[in-house]
Amino acid sequence: MNTPDPSEPPRHVAVIGTGAVGCATAIEALRLGLRVTLVEPEAAGGSHATSYGNAGWLSSHSVIPPALPGAWRRVPGWLADPLGPLAVRWPYLPKALPWLLRYLASGWTEARVQRTAHALRALLVDAPALHQRLAGEAGVPQLIEQRGLLHVFRSHEEFEGEALAWRVRARTGVQWVEWDEATLREREPDLDPRYRFAIHVPEAGQCRDPGRYVAALARHAQSQGAELWPARATGFRLEGGRLRAVLTERGELPCDAAVICAGARSAALAAAAGTPVPLESERGYHVQVPQPTRGPRLPMMAADGKLIVHWMEGGLRAAGQVEIAGLHAAADWRRADILYRHLRSMFEGLAPSPEPDAVQRWLGHRPSTPDGLPCIGPSAASPDVVLAFGHGHVGLGGSARTGQWAARLAAGLPVQQDLAAFSPLRFQRR
Ligand SMILES: Cc1cc2nc3c(=O)[nH]c(=O)nc-3n(C[C@H](O)[C@H](O)[C@H](O)COP(=O)(O)OP(=O)(O)OC[C@H]3O[C@@H](n4cnc5c(N)ncnc54)[C@H](O)[C@@H]3O)c2cc1C
Repeated sequence: MNTPDPSEPPRHVAVIGTGAVGCATAIEALRLGLRVTLVEPEAAGGSHATSYGNAGWLSSHSVIPPALPGAWRRVPGWLADPLGPLAVRWPYLPKALPWLLRYLASGWTEARVQRTAHALRALLVDAPALHQRLAGEAGVPQLIEQRGLLHVFRSHEEFEGEALAWRVRARTGVQWVEWDEATLREREPDLDPRYRFAIHVPEAGQCRDPGRYVAALARHAQSQGAELWPARATGFRLEGGRLRAVLTERGELPCDAAVICAGARSAALAAAAGTPVPLESERGYHVQVPQPTRGPRLPMMAADGKLIVHWMEGGLRAAGQVEIAGLHAAADWRRADILYRHLRSMFEGLAPSPEPDAVQRWLGHRPSTPDGLPCIGPSAASPDVVLAFGHGHVGLGGSARTGQWAARLAAGLPVQQDLAAFSPLRFQRR
């Protein structure tokens, strides 16, 4: 590791946003000997952030972009069924259309999907181990496990319907074990018998409470010397292509470098650094049942409902749904109810007398680029302003490696990985 020159004051980096990506970036920057200030108006780990309410998967195999070849055929359904697993709200369609067209194009051929998968694999391959290390350092090792993840199907044919995705995963080195009906019954005794086949991915990990985990990472960063600047960042003061200060609602924060980790709200800051990025919110929901009496032994994704079910420290969580309606539209809680109904159909008798009020519901914003890859790299305006956002469906898992890369970029140090696929400038080249 490069150590800083002790005669020089350490380079001062402002990390904007304390979601999973910002916290990991701050910790890695401190590890490199940088001075770190966290710029964030909210409490780290709070429900305002996407990192709070996700499904907790550290899925090193989640390398498939959201759009696959032939996805265009499903567009009428996305528009016609406001409660389908993926839906676009009509009033928002004109705004979302350019993003949606790029989204469809990025998954147009298997070759394109494969390129994306290879890039995502580099980001995610050792996510469980990296998070185990971070959680250990932050004093919450119990929150990260590596017991593998399960995909459950009603039949082998349903699995074969996802053949392209699994073929692409295999080419990136993902390995899995097939469970026949008897094995599934034995290992997941509470699961509804309509599921007859499963795929177990042993290498994948899970987080038992993403909100608490992120809060612990932020505390750890502060215990290592990170300062807090509790304000919203609004832009940058640049002189001759070098960063002089981050502009915030509380005035200017003088610094040498900044990393934009503001999740789904990063686009305005990236534009202020000369780097417009097509960033959309893929809105998702969760429900959490506090004390169910039945549930899965392993976290699982159900192919029929496209939802993830996972035990959190506070109960059993079901997360999923994709709704394109922007950052500001009101939540449509019927989507959360769909998740709840599906969860109950998976585990009959889930809770003795389900009290609707006791079931927690949450809406979050996946920060999504149309090609399914995050933006990790310097801005067009200055090498001192680094972009680290746009992780879509894999931002919890991908945060640990992103933090390492972003911290090195902010320090002006080389990164071992070729980051071309993640270049924030890729949308301007086309
Ligand atoms: C239903 C659902 C399920 C998911 N499941 C998974 C999963 O199982 N595994 C997985 O890996 N990923 C999952 N994801 C995706 C994952 O949650 C996100 O990709 C990830 O949390 C993004 O992290 P982030 O740090 O970029 O953003 P966030 O967690 O949203 O954090 C951004 C932070 O920036 C702050 N901020 C915003 N604007 C400013 C500003 N101007 N100045 C200062 N601070 C600002 C915000 O207050 C916030 O604290 C899921 C998402 C959803 C919605």
